[in-house]
Amino acid sequence: MKLDKFKKIYKNIPLSEHSAFGVGGNANIFIEAEKKEELKDAVFFANQNNMQYYILGGGTNILASDKGFNGLIIKNKIQNIDFDCQEESVFAGSGVPMGALVNSAKKNGLSGLEWAAGLPGTLGGAIFGNAGSCGGQIADNVDFVEVLDPITLTFKNVALKDCGFLYRGSSFKKNGLLIMGAKLKFKKDDPVVIMDKMAENMLFRRSHQPLSEKSEGCVFKNIDLSERKDVPLDIWKEIPEFSIFVRRGVVPAGFLIDRAGLKGFEIGGAKVSERHANFIVNKNNAKAKDIHKLIFEIKKIVKEKFGVELEEELRFLGF
Ligand SMILES: Cc1cc2nc3c(=O)[nH]c(=O)nc-3n(C[C@H](O)[C@H](O)[C@H](O)COP(=O)(O)OP(=O)(O)OC[C@H]3O[C@@H](n4cnc5c(N)ncnc54)[C@H](O)[C@@H]3O)c2cc1C
Repeated sequence: MKLDKFKKIYKNIPLSEHSAFGVGGNANIFIEAEKKEELKDAVFFANQNNMQYYILGGGTNILASDKGFNGLIIKNKIQNIDFDCQEESVFAGSGVPMGALVNSAKKNGLSGLEWAAGLPGTLGGAIFGNAGSCGGQIADNVDFVEVLDPITLTFKNVALKDCGFLYRGSSFKKNGLLIMGAKLKFKKDDPVVIMDKMAENMLFRRSHQPLSEKSEGCVFKNIDLSERKDVPLDIWKEIPEFSIFVRRGVVPAGFLIDRAGLKGFEIGGAKVSERHANFIVNKNNAKAKDIHKLIFEIKKIVKEKFGVELEEELRFLGF
């Protein structure tokens, strides 16, 4: 297969233009795939040429290296949205921006995605990391996910029970299947009621997140006490708010970062947000290496202070 088969193909594209942090060096080859067959061809091309590839959604949960990516970036632009209002469901391409999906659901009087109002990125990225906020998560909406097996180059549907969804996780993080689209379930409701819930969730987002700055959302996963048996509960009993988090079963990573005195801590142009300690913001022309260093410094200090290893929610690209 030749590269000129692809409609939208670019060489030496700066990843900084495709990452919400605004950092990252060049990708050798960059293909925009608007149809699932095109995405399949791109994977075939990479396999045939022994080239590594990386599928990119909105670039709102990655840290792209200053060295860039020596391989093929496949920018997912599969953006079909097909509503079935009788069945109260939608089949959407994985490259659909979540904002477009949330707004179309509202217009069609379909309730279920209000939690995602203001969530950046694509449906594929949301499914990959089981994105969630305001008491919801994408796992609650999924009926099935359509995937491409990159080895056999075949499409298949994965039922909800086989998606392995857990807090900010899915089986797709481990099995390498590429998400092409998903059928999502909804319930009919009054668009005005849906709109009100969305507005409430947007307000929460605006008041808690540094939305006017360049970030990739939460850098670390919150600590789920049912999964993390390594938490030294005896050290944490000294912290007054701790009992509330134990009752909820989740300790926010941002709380530990804040308590470690790291709000406002800077390396190069990268800074721990003053508004939300689990956000790193690109304050002053940071390089990926500044952000990378800051992430590992936060991990080291939190580990020293609270005896727990923070796990990254964002993904490293090209490191
Ligand atoms: C201001 C801000 C607020 C945020 N708030 C939240 C929040 O409230 N809740 C939350 O959970 N997240 C939040 N995030 C993080 C981010 O928006 C989500 O994780 C989002 O779901 C990522 O989607 P994306 O398309 O941008 O993925 P990308 O950043 O493009 O990719 C992330 C990972 O998913 C993989 N991936 C993407 N698409 C596919 C696919 N089709 N098939 C297989 N793998 C794929 C990529 O290879 C990569 O490893 C926030 C980010 C920002 C910048």
